[in-house]
Amino acid sequence: MANPTELFGENVFSARVMREHLCEKTVKSLEATIKTGKSLDAGIADEVAEAMKEWAISRGATHFTHWFQPLTGSTAEKHDSFIVPDGQGSVICKFSGAELIQGEPDASSFPSGGLRATFEARGYTGWDPGSPAFIKDDTLCIPTVFCGYHGEALDKKTPLLRSMKALSLQAERLARLFNVPCIQPACSTLGAEQEYFLIDEQMYNARLDLRQTGRTLFGSKPSKHQQMEDHYFGAIKTRVLNFMEELDAELWRLGIPSKTRHNEVAPGQFEMAPIFESLNLAVDHNMLAMEVLRKTAERHGFVCLLHEKPYAGVNGSGKHNNWSLTGPDGKNWLSPGDNPHENAKFMTMICALMKAVDTHADILRATVATAGNDHRLGANEAPPAIISIFLGEQLSDIIEQIEKGGAKSSKVGGSIHLGVDTLPSLPRGNTDRNRTSPFAFTGNKFEFRAVGSNQSCAGSNVAINTIVAEALDEICTKLEAEVKAGGNFNESLQKLLAGLIKKHKRILFNGDNYTDAWAKEAEKRGLPNIKKTPESLKAFNTEKAKKLFAKYGVLSEKELHSRFEIYNETYEKIIGIEAGVTLTMAKTMIIPAVVTAQKELADAIKSISAAGGTVAGAKASLKTICAETEKMYKAVALLEKAQGSEKLIAAMVKVRASADLLETMVPNDIWPMPTYAEMLFMM
Ligand code: ADP
Ligand code: MG
Repeated sequence: MANPTELFGENVFSARVMREHLCEKTVKSLEATIKTGKSLDAGIADEVAEAMKEWAISRGATHFTHWFQPLTGSTAEKHDSFIVPDGQGSVICKFSGAELIQGEPDASSFPSGGLRATFEARGYTGWDPGSPAFIKDDTLCIPTVFCGYHGEALDKKTPLLRSMKALSLQAERLARLFNVPCIQPACSTLGAEQEYFLIDEQMYNARLDLRQTGRTLFGSKPSKHQQMEDHYFGAIKTRVLNFMEELDAELWRLGIPSKTRHNEVAPGQFEMAPIFESLNLAVDHNMLAMEVLRKTAERHGFVCLLHEKPYAGVNGSGKHNNWSLTGPDGKNWLSPGDNPHENAKFMTMICALMKAVDTHADILRATVATAGNDHRLGANEAPPAIISIFLGEQLSDIIEQIEKGGAKSSKVGGSIHLGVDTLPSLPRGNTDRNRTSPFAFTGNKFEFRAVGSNQSCAGSNVAINTIVAEALDEICTKLEAEVKAGGNFNESLQKLLAGLIKKHKRILFNGDNYTDAWAKEAEKRGLPNIKKTPESLKAFNTEKAKKLFAKYGVLSEKELHSRFEIYNETYEKIIGIEAGVTLTMAKTMIIPAVVTAQKELADAIKSISAAGGTVAGAKASLKTICAETEKMYKAVALLEKAQGSEKLIAAMVKVRASADLLETMVPNDIWPMPTYAEMLFMM
């Protein structure tokens, strides 16, 4: 078995490797760049590049690439070898500081959402020293941002870094108000739990829908699927365990702190959870982890499905986005403190999150709006499309007391005086749980559970950082004014938080998010419940969103609009492809198989009848199959004519309904693809 301490970070140009390969002065300069996010001292770039190259070659690398995250939602890389002719018929290996710092990939084929005219198709990649270089596929990968000629963000990393900075600035303001020492930049943190399915490679190859769309477009639910809940946390099968062992080893080699592995709820479904890291690095690591999942699965005769809903009627996959903020004092600001003063700051953070999420629930919802995730959100397996916050009983109770106490500005029946009273000790970790909440406080972090399994975590965290930055900004502005006017800090804070709670407490919900009663209640409270992607994405096109992202320098109006365009277009494309594959499979696979079955049955009826046997049952069965087939032909005709995602989806549902029924009526050996029972259980 692999020894984690030996493997970990083996393929990473980490701080340790850096110190081994660079002189002390360079290390200091580079470390300062990494820590403070200040721009790189150009004078050291060559030395760093040379060291990286030497190290990479010693580990078998032949190429380098700028590794970036375009708006397609996946990662991009174009490999260049290190070789340079030496003029004597041989080559030497070179890698310059300039090549490390900036690249110029031909960007014309990446989506820009109108940000870039084709005549200026150039895009630039720029080194992000905050995320260490690593080796994968014999290639030195340098994490980079990806921008247009005028600095327009064409990727997911740029706004993420901007949003981290915006939040960091506001956190420092709050730190000053609370007299908290600022010893480092504040930094948001992320632990991204990743769900996925495994399927046997042969089954996968026999399914055109899986190969082309990532999900099954047909398939009737087997009698047994997840009802017994016997898969969740169950003993892991040997073949899967072998895969998981190699997966962990590969992740560790890349410095990805994979921590937890287990079976998930659905058969064939699993989860990997890493230890949390600084947000930027954690997002990069999650993108890498998805790639490693896919590749490792291949080596074990599996295919890893990251689609949010590979199988209808069976739980889908998501990502649990565990978010927190490490303050400038190096402490977790979502951890309840040890004294009244720290707790006042903690409660300020909780109230800021309430304000942020309530004000911008529509934006958070939009960040998880994808064709795949539409099958999942609100399907009683993942949170509903209604965004609300779970705080748990004790914290909710404290919130109520602050609201009361603030209103009267004196201690009434058991209410809390911020900064003076000690809070009752709050549950940490696993105690108070609500698995149905989309945005749950889990002791020392918030868990946003609506992110899709296939999505980059960047988008949601750009939103979380920015809306929290805005909330903290407003809170700090008010407090600073009161303090300046000679007000009592604790009293001002108490009043301010009480006001925020009053205004935003409608966002709190501790009950079962899967019930109809909650949908009704949420409607009464005026909380948005947006079910489909096109409608959700409109949240990126409002004045409120434009102002928000522009004000904190995260996305200009144009940049925001480009996302709106691209995500809408992507959605329409996916639905179009699914409709096309549905048609192909219906016409060239399913209907022909059903017709064969009909003929076999008709022939059988004839011969049985001629031989004097009874055929009443067989005839009735033939009639039912024929009737359903006619229905399917009609549905196919409807789908062929349908235009626009809404009509396409409606027609696809009809085609599938008939096909899934027919699957249960015709002989299994005639059915032209593996069934759900085979795909989910044979591995
Ligand atoms: P649970 O989900 O049961 O609360 P964990 O403690 O394992 O259990 O947390 C789940 C995920 O949250 C892990 O990826 C973990 O690293 C991450 N996490 C823990 N603390 C933080 C934090 N301060 N910031 C971000 N993520 C965190
Ligand atoms: Mg969790």
